Amino acid sequence: MQRFDFVIVGAGLAGATLARQLHDSGKKILVVEKRNHIAGNCYDFYNEKGVLVHKYGPHYFRTNYDSVKLFLSQFTEWIPQKYKVRVAIKNKIYSFPINRTTLNEYFKLNLKTKQQAEKFLASKREAIEHPQNAEEQVLANAGREIYEAFFKNYTKKQWGIDPKNLGPSVTARIPIRTDTNDEYTSAKFQALPKLGYTAMVENMLKDIPVMLNTDFHDIEKYVEYKKLIYTGPIDTFFNYCYGKLPYRSLNFTFETFKKEFYQDWLQINYPNEHAYTRIVEIKHITKQQTPFTTISKEFPTDDGEPYYPVPNSENEALYQKYEEKAKKLSNVYFIGRLAQYRYLNMDEVVKSALDLFNAQFAKKKKIKK
Ligand code: FAD
Ligand code: UDP
Repeated sequence: MQRFDFVIVGAGLAGATLARQLHDSGKKILVVEKRNHIAGNCYDFYNEKGVLVHKYGPHYFRTNYDSVKLFLSQFTEWIPQKYKVRVAIKNKIYSFPINRTTLNEYFKLNLKTKQQAEKFLASKREAIEHPQNAEEQVLANAGREIYEAFFKNYTKKQWGIDPKNLGPSVTARIPIRTDTNDEYTSAKFQALPKLGYTAMVENMLKDIPVMLNTDFHDIEKYVEYKKLIYTGPIDTFFNYCYGKLPYRSLNFTFETFKKEFYQDWLQINYPNEHAYTRIVEIKHITKQQTPFTTISKEFPTDDGEPYYPVPNSENEALYQKYEEKAKKLSNVYFIGRLAQYRYLNMDEVVKSALDLFNAQFAKKKKIKK
């Protein structure tokens, strides 16, 4: 029987962040990962034509947290980015998130200032003071025409449920702008790890034992630990005792072409056509020099790997039951997108992991009297 101070379940960003911090503070650690690779959902790899691809969908790193940037910068250099996304509607390409250019092109207008765009949007918005769901969130911020053309069908396709049954936070991820900024996010730091996410996580896990192809629940009986960090789905941990938490999944198809680029943009969304939601050509941001390029199409599905917690009040209530149960375990910590059942971006996951370390495990400095 092996003894560890900490067993960490999952070698994604949450697990790797805590593993690094705990290892550096002198703890004996074991990381257990059921997949055959590290880096969780931000795993990237070189495919058969040598193109660097993101296996589980495009990962655009961005953050406003200096602490996260500083922490990760120990393990990677960065390629600065401006993520550019477009949406295709009736064979026309528009800037997305919606900005003044989108408004001018879609409504055939000539709005020249932020004030004019704001006035136009105000004339479209519906008077909903406290949006309760994703549909109301868009209606309140941009009105029905924009909702119907840009959000309604994409959201239905992505989540498999009516936007009325999804929390407002889902569509609130996407700003509605009155300027002509066409960057996907407004975060102050936007960059990709220079050699990819897997290489970055490999550096984070340097000198730390990682058991791949190992489901924690299969080896639980054979390891002894003082504390457990769990980054898998919280409902699985408790054997679904209150029922399954819904997760949305995706099937990805990859196609490789012998050409420099397949499309003009990193990402093109297809709200109203096709079974897929978007086509991503990651080479636009990896900046790889290669004669080949690979695109991915995303087909949403209920079955498969748990990629997205589904935010709505019903699921939140179910999650809270698990969270209550989790709080009663004094030596188990639930952290990350699946364990916290939160639609978290990478930087938010790293931030939660750093915060957990600082709050629970960092050596407290002695205060001199
Ligand atoms: P994961 O990366 O899911 O890692 C958890 C790990 O635990 C997995 O490797 C899993 O195999 C392992 N595990 C689970 N159960 C067990 C078990 N019983 N035993 C052993 N191992 C187990 N974020 C951004 O910031 N920008 C983006 O552009 C972006 N795009 C995304 C696109 C898609 C399609 C998806 C799905 C997510 C995207 N994200 C993005 C979110 C990002 O993937 C997550 O925030 C981040 O990877 C979560 O890290 P994590 O460590 O919490 O979870
Ligand atoms: N969305 C939409 N139309 C789009 C893009 C996004 O309706 O063209 C909505 C959809 O509900 C989606 C949410 O906005 O799930 C968040 O989009 P984001 O691009 O942040 O999704 P992710 O990259 O996390 O899949």
